[in-house]
Amino acid sequence: MEKINLKSLTLTQMEEFIRQLGEPVYRAKQIFKWIYKGQTEFEKMTDLPKDLIAKLKDCAYVGKIDIYKKYESEIDETTKYIFVLEDGQMVESVKMKYSFGTTACISSQVGCPMGCAFCASTEGGMVRNLAWWEMADEVLAIEKDSNVKVSRVVVMGSGEPLLNYDELMQLLRILNSPLAFNISYRRLTVSTCGIVPEIIRLAEEGLPITLAVSLHAPNDDIRSSLMPINKRYPILQLLDACKYYIMKTKRRITFEYILISDINDTEQYAYELSNLLKGLLCHVNLIPLNPVKGKKFKKSDNFRVRKFEQILLNNGISATVRREMGSDINAACGQLRRSLFVR
Ligand code: SAH
Repeated sequence: MEKINLKSLTLTQMEEFIRQLGEPVYRAKQIFKWIYKGQTEFEKMTDLPKDLIAKLKDCAYVGKIDIYKKYESEIDETTKYIFVLEDGQMVESVKMKYSFGTTACISSQVGCPMGCAFCASTEGGMVRNLAWWEMADEVLAIEKDSNVKVSRVVVMGSGEPLLNYDELMQLLRILNSPLAFNISYRRLTVSTCGIVPEIIRLAEEGLPITLAVSLHAPNDDIRSSLMPINKRYPILQLLDACKYYIMKTKRRITFEYILISDINDTEQYAYELSNLLKGLLCHVNLIPLNPVKGKKFKKSDNFRVRKFEQILLNNGISATVRREMGSDINAACGQLRRSLFVR
């Protein structure tokens, strides 16, 4: 008989499992809590009786993803982890330290199917979705390795989270659960390239998480040339979905806007973007492009970045420039997965 991975069970499923073993249901909660303390050995779950431990060892195990490699940035306190999954696939996650706490940036898929022109994560295509417990384990493994509590999670690593919708929902619930990670929904961010029907579905869940939308262009011509998804869901449809999301959740949306030299970073485009977003409850996160080897795009210079930000601000659009972290270890946005191919 194949052993069951207890980490892949929700608390309700764990209770059902314990019932089937003929044990009192409260044991499920004890095991569940141990798992989210990072414990994977039944013997070390000290409040379980010996006969239950023996039973569990017979039919179950606690799965985990393993650290394959770890890179520490020398310019900031960023650490990139490469994890190897049970089937040998690899994903990357990044730990960032800020004054307000530690943020984990996690991957939602092995690879990515979206094909954005500026991003390394999509170069090898999509291999598979991550299970919710594998995504949660990225956070758990980071906490365990660095002995810190992660206080924010951004689903902004490789992959398109809204194409892995059901697993994403379960992930958000477990991150929020007081028995597991106990992180408030407001400290969870999901970043999407703009899968319109799934944004609408997410709006209807009514979870007060932060939605980040990768916009990257003020018009369809530019956006379609950078992001193939725009041909399917052009900007006006995307913004309609965003408006619906805001109406349903009362939450401000973050728009990510990569600044790419001469492609989308001129003053004219800053005005165009201001007009596009006028009146919307949103914040624009400007990200100077992180260069990806082998791609033609260049980062905007600092002067252009500040000018772009200033035009947005002058037009009443909330905007900041994202601090680039971990670029020396290929841990910055758009650089993930590359190190798995290029050594
Ligand atoms: N698929 C999701 C989440 C992963 S990408 C999404 O598209 O939002 C996370 C963020 O990194 C996105 O905003 C993405 O556009 C951005 N990104 C990708 N390549 C980048 C690069 N080379 N430089 C800076 N940001 C990049």
